[in-house]
Amino acid sequence: MIHRDMVCPFCGCLCDDLVVETEDGQVVQVDNACTLGSNKMMGAWQHRLKSPVMRDGGGWRDTTYEEACEYAAGVLLDADRPLMYGWSSTQGEAQGIGVSMAELLGGVIDSTTSVCHGPSILAIQEVGHPGCTLGQVKNRADLVIYWACNPTEAHPRHMSRYTTYADGFFMENAFRDRKLIVVDVRKSDTASIADEFMQVKPGGDYAVLSALRAIVRGRADVVPKTVAGVTKEQLVRVAALCKEARFGALFFGVGLTMAPGKYKNVRNAIELVDELNRHTKWTLTPLRGHYNVYGSNEVFTWMTGYPYAVDFSRQIAFYNPGETTAVDILARQECDACLIVASDPGAHFPKQCLEHLAEIPTVLIDPMQTATTPLCRCQIPTAVTGMDASGTAYRMDGVPIHLKKFLDLGYPTDTEIIGRIFKQVKEVKHP
Ligand code: SF4
Repeated sequence: MIHRDMVCPFCGCLCDDLVVETEDGQVVQVDNACTLGSNKMMGAWQHRLKSPVMRDGGGWRDTTYEEACEYAAGVLLDADRPLMYGWSSTQGEAQGIGVSMAELLGGVIDSTTSVCHGPSILAIQEVGHPGCTLGQVKNRADLVIYWACNPTEAHPRHMSRYTTYADGFFMENAFRDRKLIVVDVRKSDTASIADEFMQVKPGGDYAVLSALRAIVRGRADVVPKTVAGVTKEQLVRVAALCKEARFGALFFGVGLTMAPGKYKNVRNAIELVDELNRHTKWTLTPLRGHYNVYGSNEVFTWMTGYPYAVDFSRQIAFYNPGETTAVDILARQECDACLIVASDPGAHFPKQCLEHLAEIPTVLIDPMQTATTPLCRCQIPTAVTGMDASGTAYRMDGVPIHLKKFLDLGYPTDTEIIGRIFKQVKEVKHP
């Protein structure tokens, strides 16, 4: 059976033009997806856990969804400071129930944002977000900057759908007329096809952004001969290209948010865009990783006023990144139970945090075995949104997209499982 206009549930591009062929409940062909999306679609149905599993002495035993949900609810209810982490590769509907449950339990809810684009949000909270949709970029941008990111490998269809290789409705010959500038600490695959590659010394982004701001403001005289390894001549040339553009779009990755300077780098990038907007039109967009990490920020913000790291222990929503973020809570060994949803801290968190996760009762909701599985006491497999579950996700530019289901493998959705756990929590908290 052929399923058209399917949405890829892998990265923040949420490509919505996939053609998927299924046969006897299996995916046999995926067209239009990149290697990452295609591998997820082709492989995700194969490597699922067959049923929930629980620790049994030194090993594991299969269990039922009823027992696993009851265990998860019990662990959360028994905890004084439960942490609920992840939420970036699941549907918005599940995220909403997660927030309600965290509030009722007086726990902390945090998404993977705190270890990727959290600093971008801090900068946006300080100085605003000159953003636009990816459709605007595709149809209007004649100059694109990728700063500290490598979409060729991390968001492989970003350039073919929205920038370098895409058509533009308001451009005569987008492929020829659209220029590409890459700023990075190394010559990545994306840098190798750029019209201008600006190689910055590690940790030098803030200085380079400041130099560009000064030149755009007409104060090239204060810029030294080289800034973080970039010559003044190149900085002047890049600033001129930016000012001459009719519509410029700056995309940046975690190479900027997690480099020295962190959120100040992003704030400086926003202020550069602000400076350029005195001359022409410029926008800025973080390249978001997990397919619905933007959705976690949206849903958390509607419901609590804060985009991630929300702590309900004071009976009201409290937000203080660096204190209420998952890594900090785990490193301080503060939480006494953890529910992890659709993410893999086992592969990314510091050792100290993982040691604490392994000490406390941790429950994982994830379709497949991951590096987090060995740290847990119980894992509940669920349907994959965009494959055997429908749901809502937000693209990296903030556009909500409905992901359609095209398989039925009999797994409950994240929304159903978290809903069941929440129901049991409510029965105890509000009998
Ligand atoms: Fe999927 Fe991202 Fe590749 Fe698009 S670019 S097909 S959303 S992994």
